[in-house]
Amino acid sequence: MDIHEYQAKEMLKQFGVNVPRGGIAYSPEQAVYRSSELSGDRFVVKAQIHSGARGKAGGVKLCSTEDEIAEAAQWMLGRRLVTHQTGPQGKLVNRLYIEEATDIAQEIYLGFVMDRKLERVVVVASAEGGMEIEEIAENEPDSIIRSVVDPAVGMQAFQAREIAFSLGLEASLIAQASKTIMGCYKMIEETDAAMLEINPLVVTGGGEIMALDAKVSFDPNALFRHPKISELRDKSQEDPRETFASDRGLNYIGLEGNIGCIVNGAGLAMATLDVIKMAGGEPANFLDVGGGASPERVLKSFKAVLNDKNVEAILVNIFAGINRCDWIAEGVIMAVKELDLEMPLVVRLSGTNVEEGRKIIAESGLNIATAETLAEAAELVVAAWRNSTQLAEAS
Ligand code: GDP
Ligand code: MN
Repeated sequence: MDIHEYQAKEMLKQFGVNVPRGGIAYSPEQAVYRSSELSGDRFVVKAQIHSGARGKAGGVKLCSTEDEIAEAAQWMLGRRLVTHQTGPQGKLVNRLYIEEATDIAQEIYLGFVMDRKLERVVVVASAEGGMEIEEIAENEPDSIIRSVVDPAVGMQAFQAREIAFSLGLEASLIAQASKTIMGCYKMIEETDAAMLEINPLVVTGGGEIMALDAKVSFDPNALFRHPKISELRDKSQEDPRETFASDRGLNYIGLEGNIGCIVNGAGLAMATLDVIKMAGGEPANFLDVGGGASPERVLKSFKAVLNDKNVEAILVNIFAGINRCDWIAEGVIMAVKELDLEMPLVVRLSGTNVEEGRKIIAESGLNIATAETLAEAAELVVAAWRNSTQLAEAS
């Protein structure tokens, strides 16, 4: 789960990390008022959306006058800001963060990620901040410092100092920088964050270390331990199709195509997307119904898939191990009847209770196409989708 920049900064502050002073605004008028509460004569108006790269998309504006602040706020609020991380539909800006502008002497990249293979938090840092980490990795790979934290003892002061020295910071900044790194790690540990990225962490003209941007995301499996953090969830920043599915315990990821997919197992779901593409179609989603799916769960999956108005055909692909094909078949029939499904539907069942499952579908008298193999199923659904769209165009 992601949170907004200003929320991340508030948290960082509690862990001893320096951040600029700022305030939240929901209107141009409020934005101007917030700036009047701050000191200095330059301010930054920042769109609060769950995405990086806002700067390049016009979501971060340096302003010197009240008019400039109001104008920037007017432009950002209510806009769907499109960055290269949001997808073409962008993300809605409905709040702004107004900050005192910082005089930047140096920009540093500082990230903390959970390395699944090492099962450790890894600190990634570079003195070439300002760029995104992917760009740094491409342009200045040698500048990247990596440091693995041993969870048994946590981040140690010497380790934080080592990172600070590797960044080439002046001696007078080492203590501040290591305090920042220690603070970040403590925050990750105490909040079960899965990722924390400060880009840029800056050295100011006055010789201070400050987090100018902050992105953090939390492990959803640990949120039950952090009710205060759970409350920071902002559904306006999520894909509504994904919110609908995750609220119902389904593993769903929205895609851009029009063939809905209901599959069991993440691996088979990915393979299904590939095979649909090979057959000339475009998948609308990734959906893993999980193991032991009841007919009701299959019905919920249909609802999640149909929640996407671009869906024009559906492929159900089940390789049942702990699943039961008869339950899946019952769920499919329940869905077709309850949801008045009229679009092409192809079902491929294999594994546990496959004969019962196929029988249930065959005897239902409903218009459901069946297939033996995944390749055949994909060909069928793509052909059926083509036919139905041609029919729709002709009529
Ligand atoms: P992002 O584009 O979403 O990563 O947003 P950031 O918060 O990182 O802002 C983008 C860029 O704007 C930063 O990398 C800085 O170069 C610049 N910027 C942000 N805040 C300030 C500020 O207070 N002063 C100055 N001079 N530049 C800033
Ligand atoms: Mn940034």
